[in-house]
Amino acid sequence: MSNLDQLKTELAGLQLEDNPQIVKQKSRDFFWYSPVLKQQLDHVTGDLVVTPKSEEEIIQVLKACYALDIPVTTRGAGTGNYGQAMPLSGGVILNLAELNKVKSIRPGVVVVEAGAIISKIDEECRAHSGQELRLHPSTYRTATIGGFIAGGSGGVGSINWGGLRDLGNVIRLRVLTMEAEPRVLELTGEDLHKVMHAYGTNGIITEVEMPLTAAYDWVDVLVGFDEFMDGVQFADRLGNQDGLLVKEIAPIAAPVPHDYFLRHKKFIRKDQSVVVCMVASFAMDAFAAFVRRNSKASILYRSDLADEADVKSLPPAYELAWNHTTLRGLRVEPGITYLQVLYPFPDQIEKVRTMVELLGDEVPAHLEYVRFDGKITCFGLPIVRYTTEERLNEIIKLHEDNGCPVFNPHRYTLEEGGMKQTDEVQLAFKKEADPKGLLNPGKMIAWEDPSYDYKSDKLFLFPGLQPA
Ligand code: FAD
Repeated sequence: MSNLDQLKTELAGLQLEDNPQIVKQKSRDFFWYSPVLKQQLDHVTGDLVVTPKSEEEIIQVLKACYALDIPVTTRGAGTGNYGQAMPLSGGVILNLAELNKVKSIRPGVVVVEAGAIISKIDEECRAHSGQELRLHPSTYRTATIGGFIAGGSGGVGSINWGGLRDLGNVIRLRVLTMEAEPRVLELTGEDLHKVMHAYGTNGIITEVEMPLTAAYDWVDVLVGFDEFMDGVQFADRLGNQDGLLVKEIAPIAAPVPHDYFLRHKKFIRKDQSVVVCMVASFAMDAFAAFVRRNSKASILYRSDLADEADVKSLPPAYELAWNHTTLRGLRVEPGITYLQVLYPFPDQIEKVRTMVELLGDEVPAHLEYVRFDGKITCFGLPIVRYTTEERLNEIIKLHEDNGCPVFNPHRYTLEEGGMKQTDEVQLAFKKEADPKGLLNPGKMIAWEDPSYDYKSDKLFLFPGLQPA
């Protein structure tokens, strides 16, 4: 009997799925945003999807896979963009969709199971006591909280609260190790960084304790500009307004808003750049006054004054922003792709201007204003009109040569997509929590090839990657 057959026998009481088509579907995420990853990973598939209903069932899966040397790749909703949730060497897809309960809500704090969908958490928190999560990805309505913590970084709300990596934005994680007898650990404080944004390579998060903030009615607003850089100046000043409560500020260069925001098209001219905002309803008079102070800005759309039919048919503003901008673009022009760029404080505006002047319509700008180490600056998810991998790498180098670090979304490893160096804390924890290296293999270079030279500019190729 093969190891896989033995596993199926041992897990017979659990929800298992081995239909190859469904397994392949559950083995994929949004890796195809990248033409480079699409080519490398399109064929990747697991062998079996297991959908546990409790932490006890996860422990049962981990014990059996450990004994049989079967890799385990955890899946939230599979909305990651870099193949994070793809099982490069096959094995079990551990689907946490059924572990989705909100366990408790108190002032400032919610405790949830890791597979809970982020918008559902907010629905319960709002109904319970007018609270909501501090920040969420634009995949609010589809992504899980565990997947956001293990695979994401920040999003809507980051203008006020920074990113997930900032101390205080996650309170506690309950984590299972991948050992003969899986241990249950409760991580807090500095220890959270052992597993946060580690793509599930060194532990399975089963429960999450998150801080909450007051929930308001957020008004979606589009502000139009004839010149993109005027929109950037506006966004920068808006982010620095001390009394105006906003949750999202995203300047997006023409012609992207008109061409890609199909349902908002009627509000936007083709040559108009737009700043997408979410503003607290009680702050709308102040916001309108702020817009009037800027002779180059005009409000194109605000959801609080819009026709009911429009409000019902239009996607929420956060689904125009972050990586939803790219998704809308891909639907119109499947040949595009994107980058992830930081424009460091205090020169963010000049750095954006330099890159816009250098790359023009080949790389239409899309910025996301965030609070980064206490300073208001911008992160970018520019659209790239893709031609070749060589040109993509040149565009990345141009950004880096001009002082704008790129977090490369065309790589499936933690290090190449992140800080381009070993994360010693995550590596040490993997040695302790996953001694056989069975969790999401191939995603942590430091584990697979300790001598890898990050400065070599060579692409890391995981030897365990399934042949195409
Ligand atoms: P998955 O994709 O299923 O998993 C992500 C990673 O975490 C994988 O490596 C997986 O193995 C691991 N994992 C999942 N659950 C667990 C667990 N319980 N324990 C351990 N490891 C686990 N990201 C942002 O940060 N901000 C954005 O605004 C944003 N916008 C996006 C917009 C679009 C249209 C798309 C397609 C993606 C976007 N992303 C964004 C990326 C992605 O949506 C987020 O990172 C999301 O939070 C991932 O959640 P998920 O449940 O889909 O995780």
